[in-house]
Amino acid sequence: MNLSVYNDIRNFIGGSFQPTRSGNYIDNINPATGELTGKVPDSNEKDVAEAVAAAQKAFPQWAATPVEKRFRLLNHIAGLIDEHLDELAVAETTDNGKPLWLSKKMDIPRAAANFRFFATGIMHFASESHNTEDKFINYTLRQPIGIVGCISPWNLPLYLFTWKIAPALAAGNCVIAKPSEVTPLTAYLLSHICKEAGLPDGVLNIIHGAGNIAGEAIVKHPAIRAISFTGSTRAGERIASLAAPKFKKLSLELGGKNPSVIFSDCDWEKMMQTTIQSSFRNQGEICLCSSRILIEESIYEKFKKEFTERTKQLKVGDPMEESSQQGAIVSKVHFDKIIRCIDTARQEGGKILCGGNPVKLAARCANGHFIEPTVVEGLGPDCQTNQEEIFGPVVTLQPFKTEEEALHLANATRYGLAATIWTQDVSKANRVAIKVESGIVWVNCWLLRDLRTPFGGVKNSGIGREGGWEALRFFTEAKNVCIQI
Ligand code: NAD
Repeated sequence: MNLSVYNDIRNFIGGSFQPTRSGNYIDNINPATGELTGKVPDSNEKDVAEAVAAAQKAFPQWAATPVEKRFRLLNHIAGLIDEHLDELAVAETTDNGKPLWLSKKMDIPRAAANFRFFATGIMHFASESHNTEDKFINYTLRQPIGIVGCISPWNLPLYLFTWKIAPALAAGNCVIAKPSEVTPLTAYLLSHICKEAGLPDGVLNIIHGAGNIAGEAIVKHPAIRAISFTGSTRAGERIASLAAPKFKKLSLELGGKNPSVIFSDCDWEKMMQTTIQSSFRNQGEICLCSSRILIEESIYEKFKKEFTERTKQLKVGDPMEESSQQGAIVSKVHFDKIIRCIDTARQEGGKILCGGNPVKLAARCANGHFIEPTVVEGLGPDCQTNQEEIFGPVVTLQPFKTEEEALHLANATRYGLAATIWTQDVSKANRVAIKVESGIVWVNCWLLRDLRTPFGGVKNSGIGREGGWEALRFFTEAKNVCIQI
């Protein structure tokens, strides 16, 4: 299979590759070079309606397909993703600006792992039965919902796209999926992979386009009965307002403003190395990145000095080069937003300890969008910089005196996605983990993922959980059957 089809992105509807009915296209720009790499269909409700018709045609047979056959197909897709690791990684980096080594090490292998995990998961998925005093017995069927919508963001493009699609398909649903219009390439390549794997026509349909047009058309379509969305809290609010009156099942994985709580008894070197990663990995464009670093007062000055020195050493460079630790910011729009946030931090009285400026690279990357990893101190918990998600290579430092104060600061935002705690005291780690308002807590580590665990946020970071049985439960309807004995 030749995946060198970057310039001609098409929708994948009913097993065929189609131009959009709208006739409109969005420019696809490589953020590391500023070059136009291709055109993205700016699809509308007509494309979505065609995709839904194809999915409706495919659904009865797909829902009735034995799980072992679904397993084989999805496992085959995983294998093909592995086989095409190099092309997919180049596509991901071209679209997103992240270092190529990261696409190869994290994004693409995880996309294959998602398919493999849910391919095998559906073979083990079981439902409950309840025996009532030998008088009657209830058993619960877990049936596919029908047609479901999966909408994903640009920061981990294929990784998050497949994290939704794989469980939805494994559970027997037909899917209308939309990747971010900013990073469409790997989703488009996935449609070729699914064709090659022999996934029946109409089971997976991939629509490209803008959130407010194609995305909303998916959310509004009456035949799409569930929406799994990952993206900003702002878009999540809008989607919830459209879907709730239609009683659609909703899973919303939204923004974060994650605290990293560092106590003086931590394993210093491990904490330092990991906190550099949790702050700046993927240019800070991971929803799980720590953006507010809370440090026990007795080690604040030591932490500040060493963390700032190590941050300054991070190499921002051409994402195609192995030595680049930071690549490009995903788009000009997002670059401008991050620069505005750094200006706001200055206006609020924050002191920029390092970074704070765009990086100008030469040659191929002269027109790319790069920003220095930035560390800010001197801001209180209520200012905009510590309240609003920046989603870039910018972190703030705040000192705390007691465990109570650390918890107060950690919980002082409307978000609650992921928290990281650094201490060697198991009891303290447990106390803080219990009280921190967060869907995910890492103790003395960050971003270790077991795909069986529940994944998601509290407060404005979303509703619902992905991963493991949670995902298979989301993508099925429970039906109870009661039989008198
Ligand atoms: P975004 O909300 O702008 O877009 C996400 C997706 O939703 C895109 O495909 C977009 O086209 C679509 N969309 C936008 N508006 C829509 C609407 N009204 N109706 C339907 N679809 C719509 O987010 P982004 O800028 O692509 O991604 C960054 C955000 O995603 C950050 O806030 C980040 O924290 C969040 N995120 C969260 C998680 C998580 O697991 N909680 C993971 C990754 C990213």
